[in-house]
Amino acid sequence: MSFPSRLLDGYHTFVSSRLPQERGRYQALAETGQSPETMVICCCDSRVAPEVIFDSHPGEIFVLRNVANLVPPYNPTGLTHGVSAALEFAVQILKVKYVIVMGHSRCGGVRAFVEHRNRPKVGDFIDNWMSLIAPAAQSLDAADAAGRHGDADYLSRLEQASVVATLGNLLTFPDIRKRVNERDLQIVGAYFDVATGGLAVYDPDAAAFAPIKSGMAQEPAAAG
Ligand SMILES: [Zn+2]
Repeated sequence: MSFPSRLLDGYHTFVSSRLPQERGRYQALAETGQSPETMVICCCDSRVAPEVIFDSHPGEIFVLRNVANLVPPYNPTGLTHGVSAALEFAVQILKVKYVIVMGHSRCGGVRAFVEHRNRPKVGDFIDNWMSLIAPAAQSLDAADAAGRHGDADYLSRLEQASVVATLGNLLTFPDIRKRVNERDLQIVGAYFDVATGGLAVYDPDAAAFAPIKSGMAQEPAAAG
């Protein structure tokens, strides 16, 4: 068997330590089904697992991960739309109360977009997918006559601008817009700093990410 030994070790640890603590919860969830209050959309990046960051238990958060935590605008064609299907399930079936879009520092997807911009495509899928952040990049560039492309600060600002643009894309889904307008659903942007563990939450009124104050974690660098 070629199953990764690291995962086997981890599974044995889970069975011997966490499963006994969570067994009742798993059994109840198996019988009643899940009813998470929160959906988190975050990057595939191995450093930003929301279950770890938010110390969550089984059944608590409905997680959608993709490269650079993006949501395409509403586009009900006959094609297969994995992100939209997950959103539909979370919003219409599970009726979550929050959709959190969590970006993060040092995002490889965002870096790929910047590095590949104006160059021939280097792969079959990533560049097409990352083209979803082009509007955020254009708005950032328009506001940034200095054009500091490629520096770390630019990437951070683009990571955060992309989260804000994705919140806008969420509102192109009629059911999401309706529930937000009825104050039955909140959509929230967040940003996780991989190096410090700091978390910031987007404040639409201030048009900026505000750090969450918490113990050992340092605040993410403001990128606005
Ligand atoms: Zn990422």
